[in-house]
Order: sequence, then structure tokens, then C-alpha cells
Amino acid sequence: MDFCWLSHGGVVRILKGRFPLQKPGRATGFDFRGCSLQNQKVSSRRGMGACFLVVALLAATALPAALAQKATPAPVPVIAVDHGPNAPAQMGKHYVVLVSLDGFRYDYPRKYGATHLLAIGAAGASAPQGMIPSYPSLTFPNHLAIVTGLYPEHHGIVANSFYDPARKQYYKISDPKAVRDGSWYGGTPLWVLAEQQGMRSACFFWPGSEAAIDGVRPSYYLHYTNDVPVAQRIDDVIGWLQLPPAQRPHFITLYYPDVDHNGHEYGPDSPQTKQAVHYVDQQMGRLEARLKALHLPVDLIIIADHGMQKLSGNWVTLDQYADLSHFHTDGPLLYPDSEADAQKAYEQFSAAIKSGKVTTFRVYRRINAPAHLHYWDNPREGDPIVVPTGPYLVRAHAFGKPGEDRLPEVGAHGFDPRTMKTMRAIFFAEGPDIRRGVQLKPFANVDVYPLIAHILGLTTPPVDGKLNALRPVLVKTGKQAATQPAAGN
Ligand code: AMP
Ligand code: ZN
Ligand code: ZN
Repeated sequence: MDFCWLSHGGVVRILKGRFPLQKPGRATGFDFRGCSLQNQKVSSRRGMGACFLVVALLAATALPAALAQKATPAPVPVIAVDHGPNAPAQMGKHYVVLVSLDGFRYDYPRKYGATHLLAIGAAGASAPQGMIPSYPSLTFPNHLAIVTGLYPEHHGIVANSFYDPARKQYYKISDPKAVRDGSWYGGTPLWVLAEQQGMRSACFFWPGSEAAIDGVRPSYYLHYTNDVPVAQRIDDVIGWLQLPPAQRPHFITLYYPDVDHNGHEYGPDSPQTKQAVHYVDQQMGRLEARLKALHLPVDLIIIADHGMQKLSGNWVTLDQYADLSHFHTDGPLLYPDSEADAQKAYEQFSAAIKSGKVTTFRVYRRINAPAHLHYWDNPREGDPIVVPTGPYLVRAHAFGKPGEDRLPEVGAHGFDPRTMKTMRAIFFAEGPDIRRGVQLKPFANVDVYPLIAHILGLTTPPVDGKLNALRPVLVKTGKQAATQPAAGN
């Protein structure tokens, strides 16, 4: 888990929290937490029964306890929320499986020969020059942008970690209490939109899916962990689609962290990143085949949140250039105690830039941030705003005492995707609503929301995304497309 160009705490988590690529059959650690029941009903299919089975098997083979700890992780329990059956009007609609392959850069499929993804693109739609993330090109802001159709400053998750000056509280993706607290999130995620309109949904991980947003959770979801048995992700998705039509979710999310993890640790050009690309590509091939075998009208949409860039140089530490003693800070985000403090720091940074002492970032009063960033009207963004000019990791303060500092990782993201092409992400889609062989020009990731809402025939609130850029992928004769409202656009 990490914050890329962001926070102090995040970098500690990078070093402790990265998991080696999970290969089928590879030992990754055993976690009995997966057996504990949550507040809500836990699906017994993958709950207690599976855990006891693993325990029995370990006992039978008389493995030493230490070795048992290294066995395949326990299945992660699925939490079921009873929203009742699909409404009759929703039951006959199509299905969408939305997969996020974290950090899967737009050019990896051809660079590394991701044959399954390329085949899905050929059978449906793709964006060979990529989908453009929202700024900052980080995991949580972009996963929420994709499922709400809103830029981060409008859905409110403006970074993986930030401060809210009005609440006087920090939000951090490493803090499950914050991540599961719906009051941090704005917008209407697709699973909430679906549930509100009587359509069942399920999330095998997605930022925000553990929180009650507008008081609504998906019908099926799981608490996030990196440690999932290899087969569980696809097995659970297929299992949901095999439920009786009344209970069967029409909107399903699925998430893989592997490519992002190796991209950070070894860089985008490393053999380890290539290996992670091949692993998740193989999983996508398996998923596609198993979806086809269901003979259901399922659209498979595979995207990423952002790309990856090899870093240059060491940390850029902002307090070397301005007095930040009257600021709350989080990574590169600066929250002044007063307007005078904001203006003074802005002038100090500007002077350092003007003198040529600083070339690694630009600085703006928040109100004057470049329009294309869509990063100016939420106090959670801080003030002033510092934007790196290249692949440099920016932070307010050094970590710990002198001598305790740590070097940045090899790869990172978070940078302006309009000026740094390596921030672009993949987009592939295939299914009954997707035209064959469509190659899209680059488009903003907030546009995915109206596409999915249109396919599912859901009425949306006003959002930043538009259907226009993605309209060419739609099969025009689809019954739903002809009879349902055009998703607010
Ligand atoms: P980033 O470097 O911005 O791509 O952040 C990626 C990190 O976010 C990965 O290490 C994931 O393990 C973590 N992550 C992804 N989804 C979730 C989630 N739903 N809850 C908590 N952490 C997550
Ligand atoms: Zn990410
Ligand atoms: Zn990352």
C-alpha cells in the first residue's frame, strides 16, 4: 500500500505492505482473521466452512505451525447485505463486470505481449493510446472518479491521503475506519446507483465499496486485503453470476493490485513488472472464458486507474523552500492555518522558482490552479498547490530524524496525466453491448460512468463525465440502449 508522491506514513507502508506477486499455488501467508464473522451476514460458501476445511487439511498433513502460517491465504469472507431481489424491471437487463488492474499502463499490453487483453480488445473495444486518469493519478481518487463520473475534487477523495480542514481530520487509505466511513465520499458510485434503482450489485474490492455511501452498500462486498487465494477473485465473480436471477448482481467490480505493486518496487521496465502483466493477463483470459461459458449477456470492461513512471532523483522536500510551520501537511498537500500563511508560502515558493533554485515543481494559489487539473475548488486540496514538473516525488517534510530518511521507490504515479503520457491507463471492453474492433482516442476516465449507466439502463445524477467519447463503442441496436434513458447525457 502506498501513497506514491504522497505521504510519510505511506512510504512506510510501501516497504512493509507490498506483497510478492501471487502465482497460482504460491505460498503467501495464512490468516485466520478471514474466518471471523463481521457485523453483517457472511456468506457461508466462503466463510467458516472453508476455513475449517483448511485447518483440517493442515492438521492432517502435520505441518509445523510455522509452516502452516505460510500456506495459501484463507478465503476472504463475502459480506452480504440484504437489499431484497432485483426489481422486475431490472431482472432482464444485461450484466457488467468492471475489472481494475491497478497501475496497468496503457502501453503494457503491446510492450509485454498481454495476449488475452489484446484479444479482448480485438473482439470488442480498446484505447491503444490509453484512458486519461484524473489528477492526481493515484489509486483512490481515480477508482472513485471511474465509478462516480466525478473529478476527485467533486467526489471528495482528492488523494490517497489528505486532511479535511473543516472536519479537522485526516483520511488515509491505510485507515480502515476512514475508508469504511461513508461520510468522506461524495457522488453516487455505480453500485449505489444500481441498488437505489432496484438492481443488485457486488464488489470484489473497489475503493469506497466497504462504506455505506448515501446509506447504501453493495449487496455483496469484502473487506480489503492484498492476501487473497488466487482462485477466489474469479470464482466469487462467477459464483455471483450463477445465483438465481432474482439475487444475481448486474453490476460487479473486481480488482487486482499486482502490476502496481511490482511497478513501484522494480519500475515499469523491469522483468518483475512484465511477469505481473503476464499473470493478470492470464487471469483475464480465464475470466473471459468462464464468463463466456455462462451464456449470459455480460459486458466485460477492463481498465486501470493510472500508469507508472520510473522516478528521477531523490525527494523534493518543500520545507526547504518555504516556512511550513503554520501548516497541516500530508505528503505534498499543504493546509494553512490562515490566508496570510498560504500567501507567504506561495511567495516563498515562487521566489525559489523564479531564482532558478527550484525546477522540480510549479506552485499555484488553489484558486489559480490550471483548469485542466480540475483541482481548485475543494479545501481538501490545500493551498497553495504544488504540481511536480516531472517524475519527482514531492513531500512537505523529510521523514523522521536526519539519517532516518528513506529513498523513494523505483516507480511511481500521481503526476499530471495531461503532460505525462506514462500516467495513462488501459481500457478494454467486450460483450453484447460493445461493438467489435472499435479503437478509441484517449478519453477522460470520468466518461466510463455514463457508459456503464447507459448499458445498465440506470438514470444518473449530473456528473462530470460525458457519454459522447465512448458512444462509438455501443452496439446501436441493443434493446436496452434503445429503451432506457441516456444516463443523464
Ligand atoms: P497506489 O499506489 O495509489 O496505486 O495505491 C495502491 C494501493 O492501494 C495498493 O497497495 C493496494 O493494496 C491499495 N488498495 C487498493 N484498493 C484498496 C482498498 N479498497 N482498500 C484499501 N487499500 C486498497
Ligand atoms: Zn493505483
Ligand atoms: Zn501505485
